[in-house]
Amino acid sequence: GGAFSPEAARADVPILHRTVNGHPLVWFDNGATTQKPRQVIEAVAGFYGAANSNIHRGAHTMAREATEAYEAGRDAVARFLNAPSPDSIVFVRGTTEAINLVAASWGRGRVGPGDDILVPVLEHHSNIVPWQLLAKETRARVVPVPLLEDGRIDQDAYADLLSMRTRLVVISHASNVLGTIPPVREMTALAHRYGAKVLVDGAQAVAHLPVDVQAIDADFYVFSGHKIFAPTGIGALYAKPEVLGTMAPWQGGGNMIESVGFDRTTYAPVPHLLEAGTGHISGAVGLLAALNWLTSFDRDAITAYETSLLAYAREAMATVPGLDVLGDAPERVAVLTFTLAGHEPGAIAAWLDRDGIAVRAGHHCAQPALAHYGLTSAARASFALYNTREEVDRLVASLHQLRQSAPTA
Ligand code: PMP
Repeated sequence: GGAFSPEAARADVPILHRTVNGHPLVWFDNGATTQKPRQVIEAVAGFYGAANSNIHRGAHTMAREATEAYEAGRDAVARFLNAPSPDSIVFVRGTTEAINLVAASWGRGRVGPGDDILVPVLEHHSNIVPWQLLAKETRARVVPVPLLEDGRIDQDAYADLLSMRTRLVVISHASNVLGTIPPVREMTALAHRYGAKVLVDGAQAVAHLPVDVQAIDADFYVFSGHKIFAPTGIGALYAKPEVLGTMAPWQGGGNMIESVGFDRTTYAPVPHLLEAGTGHISGAVGLLAALNWLTSFDRDAITAYETSLLAYAREAMATVPGLDVLGDAPERVAVLTFTLAGHEPGAIAAWLDRDGIAVRAGHHCAQPALAHYGLTSAARASFALYNTREEVDRLVASLHQLRQSAPTA
């Protein structure tokens, strides 16, 4: 591993150089969305400025070029995840759509009455609600897998809950509330002993950790481009080729057919079968640029840098009286969710915003995870490779000042 300097990454990201409320912006809301390097912004502008065309149709030069650009995005995602082939990558709007796609296309017909879908309590709502909808439709059960106090998934409970009735296990590769990185590889191996499939939600992991879907042996791996320095509206679903090959259409339209007749319609092969309609072409172009940008740095060095930034932030935040960080599992990405005695999370975020510091406050689309800690709301600082210790110092200084102000809750 080589050295990594956040300054090199910062220099590429124009928005990090703006001010908010008279202060240089501190973007600590990376868990919600990441900021974009100029390489991504220019790739998207370049597509619309010089290369815009629909794809997979028309015999003209620009349709061919746009198709190649779109497919180059797919190739890049496959390499990024170490997928066996670009054909195992389906473009989607994001994590939420990918999960709903799996529920609709794979879940219907495979999940039935009395079957179990195991869902850890710390999952994002987008990895809970689609399974509740599927369970309702199929009369299956969504079974919560409990958490330990430190935010790790209770592995003994997980082992006990698995059975021959388990059809699917879903797991976030990193929690958006606690940052916890569960042992996805071991959990996947265990699920497979019962013949269950495993979906790994990589929304919070991809920006922080190198991912190898073959090493995890996941049946499905999903992520959103906007959480990895790419535009909104583009994301990816990886499915194991032997699983993808059995999946039914979930939306009908152009691109997903081979021939249409009122007597008989035949379908295009996967992944196109699952990509009805015009895709987000400029999104794929932006995603390719984002993955190229991220992988131009040493990934292990990024992880080491973020881990040291997280340790620095935890230590500095511990100096704020009354501040409590949720969960202290050692294996985690750079996410810190916290409460401050006497101050309601929304008021903390508003206070920090006055100092130009963006953190999120609320339930983080993970109400069961917060309920585990007896909370309905918390503040969250989430870091990316372009954040610095100086920014952490500003956060902590502002929190100290808040402490010294009158309580707001
Ligand atoms: N899963 C996790 C773990 C997330 O953090 C998020 C976004 N907060 C999602 C799923 C949903 O992602 P999107 O809104 O981009 O579909």
